[in-house]
Amino acid sequence: MKKKENKHYASTINIDGISVEIRRKQIRNINLRVHIRRGEVKLSAPLAASDDEIMRFLLKKTGWIKKHLSTPKSQPLTLPEKFENGDRICIWGREVTLKLSTATYGKTRIHQNRDYLIIEHPGNTTAAKREKMVREWYRRELKREIPKIILRYEDLMGVKVREFGVKKMKTRWGSCNTRAKRIWLNLNLAERQPILLEYVVVHEMVHLLERGHNRRFYSYMDRFMPQWRECDEILKKS
Ligand SMILES: [Zn+2]
Repeated sequence: MKKKENKHYASTINIDGISVEIRRKQIRNINLRVHIRRGEVKLSAPLAASDDEIMRFLLKKTGWIKKHLSTPKSQPLTLPEKFENGDRICIWGREVTLKLSTATYGKTRIHQNRDYLIIEHPGNTTAAKREKMVREWYRRELKREIPKIILRYEDLMGVKVREFGVKKMKTRWGSCNTRAKRIWLNLNLAERQPILLEYVVVHEMVHLLERGHNRRFYSYMDRFMPQWRECDEILKKS
């Protein structure tokens, strides 16, 4: 199916728990509006503005946006109840819309296409089945990204991670078994900005150098990931 041409194509990004609707228009400057009562943040940008430019603009304005919103969301979207067509979920800090489509042949599968997360299924699915698929998709995303981070920091830190895993965790973002050199990461990290996953992985890897949360531990954190405090603050709020 061909995608409808639309030069005012809107997308949504989620920055520090705030969702921002972005529209590109024939204008000269980036424009930001906050509808306090509705809790909406809308940004319009020149057609030629790059994603990077918009992101940098927004990062500078996060404090300002939060001050203006009466009820700022400090968390990513909570998962929908029924995982129905049109429901919104978060991946890597961006909002995507769930789309259910019937696969005439073959079996059930889930994949992302730009701002859509598409579940194809041959017959009827249940909400529980769809939820399971979304969680599996989160797991796949994490399992693709985590090894890259580990590899990068192993060299830098001079440690070796023997094994990693992803699971649902209620109270923690990650954990480390120093003797087995195994780290566990919270499945929900797939909903957050990639830098937050990186932060949690680095934190758990630093435990391979220092088990306690003491001065030595934090000086390692400062050395290997100078921006860790900002990440920590974002995660603590959610
Ligand atoms: Zn720790």
